[in-house]
Amino acid sequence: MTAILPGATIGVLGSGQLGRMFAIAARRLGYRVRTFSPDYDTPTGQVADVEVTAPYDDLEAVAAFARKVKVITFEFENVPAAAAEVCSQYCPVRPAHSVLHTTQQRLREKKFLAAHGFPVAPFHHVRSAEDLREAVARLGLPAVLKTTDFGYDGKGQFRLTSFDQIDAAWQGIGGRESVLEAWVDFECELSVVAARSLDGSFAWFGPVENVHTRGILDTSVAPARIGERTARQAVDVARGIMEKLGVVGVVCTELFLARDGRLLVNELAPRPHNSGHFSFDACLTSQFEQQLRAVCGLPLGSTEQFRPAAMANLLGDLWQQGEPDWAGACALPQVKLHLYGKLTPRPGRKMGHVTALAATPDEALSLALEARRRLSISQPSPSALPPPAWEAPAR
Ligand code: ATP
Ligand code: MG
Repeated sequence: MTAILPGATIGVLGSGQLGRMFAIAARRLGYRVRTFSPDYDTPTGQVADVEVTAPYDDLEAVAAFARKVKVITFEFENVPAAAAEVCSQYCPVRPAHSVLHTTQQRLREKKFLAAHGFPVAPFHHVRSAEDLREAVARLGLPAVLKTTDFGYDGKGQFRLTSFDQIDAAWQGIGGRESVLEAWVDFECELSVVAARSLDGSFAWFGPVENVHTRGILDTSVAPARIGERTARQAVDVARGIMEKLGVVGVVCTELFLARDGRLLVNELAPRPHNSGHFSFDACLTSQFEQQLRAVCGLPLGSTEQFRPAAMANLLGDLWQQGEPDWAGACALPQVKLHLYGKLTPRPGRKMGHVTALAATPDEALSLALEARRRLSISQPSPSALPPPAWEAPAR
């Protein structure tokens, strides 16, 4: 199969920060990028050559987009199946529609994993409050109820700790089709972000060690502070899953390391992942360049990591005291600041991240947290500042 070479135009469905960093990587290699989403002046659109704004179910607009690109990839997997199908009539779609079909719906994904012998926490399909009662009786508590569709950053989830929460949980997730999952008492959370190319070659980052707060990724540390055997197992699980799915592109496998030492797969993302952002600054080839290489049929790059690294997300909450102190964070020379160009900071919204490089994973984490702490030390308002030395005193 012939490779899609620099100069060609790549299509990206979705227009968030993952597409933005993909576009930066693609343009560095001399590719052109078109992005498609319902939004305007987006993180990806600001960097791409062309930003197409249309709803995903406008199949004529999708077809027009697909005709102008050599390959289509995703930065957002919740596009309707019909849109991905239309795209595949005009050019290769990587990862293929079948990969999206499995990974964009929680129940299908869990059934796929369980059917192929990948370790997952016990789960139960829920379509009514009655189902939920039965599921709770089977799995026990605590457990977490998750909608099957459109979950991200912990949205559409309800954690149950007592039987009298059943009705509240069912209402809390809007009475939608869902999955009840046994709560995992974990030592830590891990992820393996990996790429698989057309010829089946495989390259991975991590395992990365992740901490979530309120269901949203807060920090990532790479390499994870775990034993070598566990690290190898996590990579083997990720590789096995990607081979079974026949992925061409990047997939993030999120895992729990349970306190009893077992690894359990939490979920899959068929694209670069927040926990792989460290690779942009800390590795020879980033997860975004790897996605580009994989979907273009180029050989994968080395994922060698220069130094231990840590990433801390910057959420919209940081703006509550006014504009964050960017210069304060930049004063730490081992810290790289990334901002996504989003126009409105909202609590819980991912606006950017910092990545710190250091001699050890612990030091990298402290440094990333220090950078974030400095950002939230609000600048004194101009009236609170002493007058400049040259200003004449008021009479
Ligand atoms: P993402 O932003 O990764 O797409 P999501 O909304 O799909 O998130 P999950 O990854 O399912 O959500 O859950 C978010 C976080 O909630 C997990 O990373 C973990 O910290 C916690 N969590 C979810 N399910 C469980 C579980 N069964 N046991 C323990 N913790 C859990
Ligand atoms: Mg997750």
